[in-house]
Amino acid sequence: MKQEVKPVHSMSSRREKNLDLIRPKRLRFPEDERENEWLGILLDAYYLGDKCVFEGISKRIKRGEQLACKKGCSSCCSTHSTIPAYPLEIIGIYWYTDTKIKGETRVRLAQNLISYNQLNQCPFLIGGACSIHPMRPLACRFFNVFNSPCAPGEDPFYSRRKDVLTPNEQEKQKALSKYLHFHGIRGKKAVKVALKTDILNNYVKNLREIDWKNLGIRLNLRLI
Ligand code: SF4
Ligand code: SF4
Repeated sequence: MKQEVKPVHSMSSRREKNLDLIRPKRLRFPEDERENEWLGILLDAYYLGDKCVFEGISKRIKRGEQLACKKGCSSCCSTHSTIPAYPLEIIGIYWYTDTKIKGETRVRLAQNLISYNQLNQCPFLIGGACSIHPMRPLACRFFNVFNSPCAPGEDPFYSRRKDVLTPNEQEKQKALSKYLHFHGIRGKKAVKVALKTDILNNYVKNLREIDWKNLGIRLNLRLI
C-alpha cells in the first residue's frame, strides 16, 4: 500500500559521524554479495549517497561552516518520527541485523524491535548510537546539520533550514537510480522517466511504522 511519508531530503538523521571528514569508501561484504545480488546494488547506492554527502559537507566546510553532527549526537533519531525507507533498504536492515549484530547489542536490539511501537525513538538507536550504521537508510545519511547541534526535540529542517545540508539533486538521483535497478527499471530512458515521476515514492515506508516485532523475536531465537 502506498504510504505518505516525507521525501528523502526532509528526513531524520543521526549516527556515528567522525569529527574528521573521511572520504567514503564502498562497503564490501564479498561472500554475502556473492550470495545476494541485491546487496551489491544496495552498497553501490549507499556509496553514491555517501559520496554526495561528503562533497556537500566538504563545500560548506571550505566556506567556513562547521558540521554539527558528530559521534554521540543522536537526538535526531528520537525527534524525527518519519524516516523514509525503501524496500531494498529494509531488506538490508533485516539481513544486517540477523546476520551481523551479535551479543549484547543483539539482545538490546531485539527488545527494542519487539516494543518498537512503544518507543519514543528509532528502534535501531542503542545507547546513543545507530546499531545498523552501515545499513542506515539514505535518508539518515542525507540529513546533516551545520553550526550547532539540534536541541532536544528540534527539527532544524523547520527551525533553521539554512543549517541543513541540501544534497546535490543529481548526485542524489544517481543513488536512487540504483534502487530502480532493483525494481527491474533499467536503461537510461526508463530510469530518467521513473525518477522524474518519482515512482520510488510508491514503495517507500516509514521506518518508525514498520512492524519490527517478528524481526525482534527472530533475533532472540537465534542469538549469535
Ligand atoms: S546535529 Fe542534529 S542531525 Fe546531526 S547528529 Fe546531532 S542531532 Fe543528529
Ligand atoms: S536508522 Fe534509526 S538509529 Fe540509525 S541513523 Fe537512522 S534514525 Fe538513527
